[in-house]
Amino acid sequence: MKEVIIATTNAGKLKEFKEMLEPIGYHVKSLADIGYRQEIEETGHTFEENAVLKAETISKQFHEIVIADDSGLSVDYLGGSPGVYSARYAGEMKDDTANLNKVLRELEGIEKEDRSARFRCALAVSIPGEETKTVEGVVEGYIATEPVGENGFGYDPIFIVKDKTKTMAELTSEEKNKISHRAEALKKLSALLSS
Ligand code: IMP
Repeated sequence: MKEVIIATTNAGKLKEFKEMLEPIGYHVKSLADIGYRQEIEETGHTFEENAVLKAETISKQFHEIVIADDSGLSVDYLGGSPGVYSARYAGEMKDDTANLNKVLRELEGIEKEDRSARFRCALAVSIPGEETKTVEGVVEGYIATEPVGENGFGYDPIFIVKDKTKTMAELTSEEKNKISHRAEALKKLSALLSS
């Protein structure tokens, strides 16, 4: 079985990677599984820069195949925020509920047509001895007026997928994993790796 380290401490992301990679024959290891407990400082200005930084940091130390994800929500009305600051938008405690409430407050009174947003996901794969490769996935939608749904993580309860009426948190994990920004990026990555 092929082994891959996912360079994340985010339980929501890790669960989705396992759901998507294990059925196609990968054994997924987390940073906790390899005993890595430090925080990798995300100093990049783009999702791609941060994904490369995380993948290369771990791959150099462990000499294994590493996939890193940097992702987040971009709201047009907020000039693309929270963007690369999605995880800590409401503060260093990285509180999902505080983060999504901050976005809802900032969009209070704004009509549906001005609430457009997208989730972006940059994936970087670092293979020892090879140049790091990157891909990106996007899912378009808009911001709800209140949180709905219990599934997923992060901003899922306030993100309504374009042309749908449900928030991302109302979708089952199977449904989310077919259409999400992470799923799209992972499809591109699989194609790149098998080519
Ligand atoms: P990162 O770990 O710096 O990439 O932070 C990503 C942050 O973006 C997460 O903590 C979430 O707040 C948000 N995010 C990324 N992907 C998703 C998703 O699939 N659903 C909801 N929020 C997400």
